[in-house]
Amino acid sequence: MQCLNDSLLQLITETATNLPTDVRRVLSKAGRKENSNTQAGQALQIIRLNVDMAKESVAPICQDTGMPTFLVHTPVGVNQITIRKAIQAMVEEATRRGKLRPNSVDSITGANSGLNLGPGTPVIHFEQWEDDEIEILLLLKGGGCENKNIQYSLPADLEHVGKAGRDLEGVYKCIMHAVWQAQGQGCSAGFLGVCIGGDRTSGYSHAKEQLFRDQSDRNSDPVLAELEDRVMGSADSLGIGTMGFGGDVTLLGCKIGALNRLPASFFVSVAYNCWAFRRLGVRLDPHSGAITRWLFHDDNPEAASSSEVPLTTGREIRLTTPLSEADVRSLNVGDVVSLSGPIVTGRDALHKYLSTHDSPVNLNGAVIYHCGPVMLKDEGGVWHVRAAGPTTSIREEPYQAEILRKFGVRAVIGKGGMGSKTLAGLKESGAVYLNAIGGAAQFYSEKITEVTGVDFLAEFGVPEAMWHLNVRDFVAVVTMDSKGNSLHADVERASAAQLELVGG
Ligand code: SF4
Repeated sequence: MQCLNDSLLQLITETATNLPTDVRRVLSKAGRKENSNTQAGQALQIIRLNVDMAKESVAPICQDTGMPTFLVHTPVGVNQITIRKAIQAMVEEATRRGKLRPNSVDSITGANSGLNLGPGTPVIHFEQWEDDEIEILLLLKGGGCENKNIQYSLPADLEHVGKAGRDLEGVYKCIMHAVWQAQGQGCSAGFLGVCIGGDRTSGYSHAKEQLFRDQSDRNSDPVLAELEDRVMGSADSLGIGTMGFGGDVTLLGCKIGALNRLPASFFVSVAYNCWAFRRLGVRLDPHSGAITRWLFHDDNPEAASSSEVPLTTGREIRLTTPLSEADVRSLNVGDVVSLSGPIVTGRDALHKYLSTHDSPVNLNGAVIYHCGPVMLKDEGGVWHVRAAGPTTSIREEPYQAEILRKFGVRAVIGKGGMGSKTLAGLKESGAVYLNAIGGAAQFYSEKITEVTGVDFLAEFGVPEAMWHLNVRDFVAVVTMDSKGNSLHADVERASAAQLELVGG
């Protein structure tokens, strides 16, 4: 199969950089539904622009290129060992080319393997089938939305929906609860894959398999089709909106499957996928390995994302870093700021480190960006940003307030919001939380004008290192201010009240 490597590299590159047609179509529809004058509307415009930018520059749509998950169907007689080795080699090559972020971390030592290889990475499932061709499907599902997957064991008593029994009404309650609990942290608006039944392992696996269905398909089981319609008909009324800013579009798709279960068990497994729903597939000639057909891609021009509406309103508050306390104390939830100047990135490893050590640089007035970028070094040794959207901030909740206080940090940028401890810390220290648009890795990477340095690269690896960046016109929304206000808390409260109405 002399073309196999080439076909796999194309599949990985295309999946990371070019959203499937059915997903683009759904995003376009969402763009028509969302009010473009709101923060959610503006976020959606940025998302759709980002999708086009990624395609044009053949760069990752989102910096978190997720856990590469391959589902391979082979005719009888095809050597699966050859395919496994080729997949591993091309995952490594795509990482080297900056199409995938190095995402494989040793769970014991914390060391990043650097090339997306290691125990359990990539995930490859094989199935034999009676077709003559090979089919390879690929899902790149990032950590932010993976963390919002949820599994229910019925019967259960769920907050805001009450008792969920072992029937379809109980399943409906679980699904609505799953949408609610994700809020904006999985980069809403999202897509669901759901499995009713199975065991704990097969349930999650089947839920993920639902994500390989075309968004335009109709469930062949009329009962499940009706349930999918019911969820889609109710979920938007939760009002969570794009990025959890509050808005008219909360859920973009829901696909439900079912497996038999043990009499004693009744699981409902929900796989939540962010808007950056990167999954594609190819059919291959079993002799040459050449691509005979793409799946989930068609040439319908209507499917293209629209980015015609200007993104800047002229009402953004322009700030230059480092920030003063007066700068941030004057900001209110809902303000849109445009930052220019130096910032640093920092995620889990850096926050943990800073909680017990000094910073290698002065952080007084600084802005910490919760971001694990995709970076490439050129032949001259200069680093360039290939993708740099925000990561989920709530993981830093145990550390953030203390770091604001200890170092005089004035703003953190991330996505999905933070909790009450950080909110109190913002008030005490005079700082703000800025919500950038999750997944908009190309949009933000264009705002980074220079990489001026890096700390802890060898210790923490590329995503977790402390990158020193200069930014220009970096747009984000104040969602937690220094006066004790949090848009995330408000949206969570309002959507909980709504969930009580429509949740069953
Ligand atoms: S869009 Fe958001 S949830 Fe999805 S991979 Fe990117 S950062 Fe993670």
